[in-house]
Amino acid sequence: MNNRTEGHSKPPALKAQRAYRFRLYPDREQEKLFHRTFGCCRFVYNRMLADKKAMYEETGKTKRLTPAGYKKDFPWLKEVDSLALANVQLHLEAAFARFFEPGKNRYPRFKSKHRSRKSYTTNVVNGNITLEDGRLRLPKAGTVRIRQHRRIPEGYVLKSVTVSMEPSGKYYASLLYEYPARENQTPGADREDAKVLGIDFAMRGMAVFSDGSRAEYPGYYRLAQERLARDQRRLSKCKKGSRNYEKQKRWVALRHEKIRNQRKDYLHKLSRDLADRYDAIAVEDIDMQAMSRSLHFGKSVADNSFGAFRTMLAYKLEEQGKSFVKVGRFFPSSKMCSRCGNVKKELRLDERVYRCSCGLCMDRDLNAAVNIRDEGRRILEGA
Ligand SMILES: [Zn+2]
Repeated sequence: MNNRTEGHSKPPALKAQRAYRFRLYPDREQEKLFHRTFGCCRFVYNRMLADKKAMYEETGKTKRLTPAGYKKDFPWLKEVDSLALANVQLHLEAAFARFFEPGKNRYPRFKSKHRSRKSYTTNVVNGNITLEDGRLRLPKAGTVRIRQHRRIPEGYVLKSVTVSMEPSGKYYASLLYEYPARENQTPGADREDAKVLGIDFAMRGMAVFSDGSRAEYPGYYRLAQERLARDQRRLSKCKKGSRNYEKQKRWVALRHEKIRNQRKDYLHKLSRDLADRYDAIAVEDIDMQAMSRSLHFGKSVADNSFGAFRTMLAYKLEEQGKSFVKVGRFFPSSKMCSRCGNVKKELRLDERVYRCSCGLCMDRDLNAAVNIRDEGRRILEGA
């Protein structure tokens, strides 16, 4: 007897989303069309914003506007993907919704031709967008060459695509997929022999693991920084708008992009390895932004990319039906002894070794990582 005849209905499956970003190689015509689309999106956004603003100033309210309403006066808007323009409307409405949220009074800003990101988003409707054999078929643009360096897993459904151009002049497509999320239960994570890893954020190397190892995050940014500073100086000496200036500007943008990619690569590999090896991973729920503000870590925290690393870990575990556990930010991971549980009143930042009256003498970060692991295990078993 199957479920249907018994009359059981399964709860609707949870959907999770994941984006894949691939490099695009448009031909001349496609490049032109992309630029026209970026421009039309910016135009519609600014136009709607101006009209809404005028309405708001006059009546204290805003009315819903649609891109279709502008196509009469500006027929060239019809030349680009209409769904891209529809998404502009959604973005603008979201910006207004944020504006009306209590406590947030940031009025939506106009998009500038030079400062704003060059991108547009379009949606999959009736299979109008497909990814096949190194080709991405897009509305209006047709098939564009794409370098798909990663396989899309079985059962993933394409929902939308964002086409963008980086300041270096390279094009990318970010493809958003939906897939059925697993039940939020870790196979065996509540077993006593489940493999749980605790991770503590560390300034040196980015992270310390409860198994005693340490990430060796190379700090690409810092290594490359001197070079970047030199290039930037050279750029400031060039005459703005000159040929040399443009050339130098592109070069600097390329270097930035390369460093960003190297960092991402490293973080992907590390998080993949850990997510494959452990049943559950526990990290501290720290607010990286607040931390970098209050401790003036600034660049190093950003460079360490710990936040990005956590995000990658979370979805890589989730994909395998494993657990990503956040340990409360007031949990005294650093001040507590991982052997006897005694909590110190004070622990100076320069005390690199944790010493306890019970005889424990352990690297400060490792002690914290072990505490985070144990707390993570406690949370999992209690759940
Ligand atoms: Zn102790």
